[in-house]
Amino acid sequence: MKIVRISDEVTIKRSIDTGTTEQQAIVKTIIADVRTQGDEALHVYTEKFDRVNLSTFSVTNKEIEEAYEKVDQRFISIIREAAANIRSFHEKQLRSSWMTTEDNGTLLGQKITPLDSVGVYVPGGTAAYPSSVLMNVIPAKVAGVERIVMVSPPNADGVVPAAVLVAAQEAGVKEIYKVGGAQAIAALAYGTESIASVDKITGPGNIFVALAKREVFGDVDIDMIAGPSEIAILADETARADEVAADLLSQAEHDPRACSVLVTPSMVLAEEVAAEVEKQLTMLPRQEIAARSIADYGAIYVTADIDEAVETVNQLAPEHLEVITENALELLGKIRHAGAIFIGRYSSEPVGDYFAGPNHVLPTNGTARFSSPLNVDDFQKKSSVIIYSERALKENGAKIAAFARMEGLEAHARAVEIRLKNDRSVTKKG
Ligand code: NAD
Repeated sequence: MKIVRISDEVTIKRSIDTGTTEQQAIVKTIIADVRTQGDEALHVYTEKFDRVNLSTFSVTNKEIEEAYEKVDQRFISIIREAAANIRSFHEKQLRSSWMTTEDNGTLLGQKITPLDSVGVYVPGGTAAYPSSVLMNVIPAKVAGVERIVMVSPPNADGVVPAAVLVAAQEAGVKEIYKVGGAQAIAALAYGTESIASVDKITGPGNIFVALAKREVFGDVDIDMIAGPSEIAILADETARADEVAADLLSQAEHDPRACSVLVTPSMVLAEEVAAEVEKQLTMLPRQEIAARSIADYGAIYVTADIDEAVETVNQLAPEHLEVITENALELLGKIRHAGAIFIGRYSSEPVGDYFAGPNHVLPTNGTARFSSPLNVDDFQKKSSVIIYSERALKENGAKIAAFARMEGLEAHARAVEIRLKNDRSVTKKG
């Protein structure tokens, strides 16, 4: 792993995949076909890409029951415990509608309303991601979303992996369809005979899914276009090199484009971690992926002191940040940009990926500078409420009309003045 002494500015070497022109064209065609041909297009593309001919896309109760029989009891109880932790964390994010009363009798407030419907994409392929199900569905559920639809591509046997179905059931999903890729995103955005459209689509997926989400954004809302996963570890000489190396590799095994970075003022730790990474790499089942990620996107930055290390981390704005230093908690106040901050050696990233409760859908590609983890707010919207009193309009009507005229909007001014005039004539009559 390369060791770099910090001079002035650093950036995470990022890899943003915008797809090839060909992939972009395929996605546009798939979306257009689903819009015009509905279910028929879903059948054609499911046969083409997932190599299975389904009579219906809907997952039945029987399939859910079979899924419970396939997974072992311990997995079910872990899923339940993780779901409870995630639910409890997200319940703390819930906001209430509010209203203030002014002295002149006016009421002003904000009404919070959950989205009516949300679609959650759960990637298929060779791996199963039950954690993705929990992290996307539970905040929507907590927010009060009535209709949560899950889509996931079927495997060659025409089923969705059992672990994913069990997670969906535990999270409270009632509507699941076996459809994947751009065609699933199009169905969620525009609706087909079997799948009614939703208002927002969340969840990760491959390049076809990401491009399709980008394409339908505006007609529906989306969560984000996630880039490859990243970790930065801020550590000093009190950290154990074997633990730091294990955490760097836990990120590297995701994807050859995943980015794992250590930032430390200690050259001793830097050298020990570099050696440990090489050693542990050889023992990993996903060694090939992790090795490519470490070679292409991994780095150890050595800084002059801890303050410079913190500043470096802020420049990187990583998706995940671990802080393993003496008095790590004291650094929390100085950290401005990171999706999730893991403090201390017992807070290894997988703790948050699966179990602790905070969401694992986090801003990547330096977007932690301006955006937040997926949360309950993403599934609710706010309406302003204005209940202006008679007294307030009388006090302020002339100012409002003057403001409108300043903008050249005479009808605005008259809409206010007609009320003042009507009330004056009523008073006169009375
Ligand atoms: P996927 O469900 O994302 O994609 C499968 C679908 O892609 C297929 O159903 C098919 O419709 C479509 N497809 C495949 N080849 C195509 C082609 N040539 N043309 C058009 N469409 C095609 O599953 P996947 O491919 O296994 O990818 C999973 C992705 O999800 C990975 O990139 C993984 O890194 C990512 N992921 C990310 C997170 C996260 O939190 N960021 C979590 C889990 C998975």
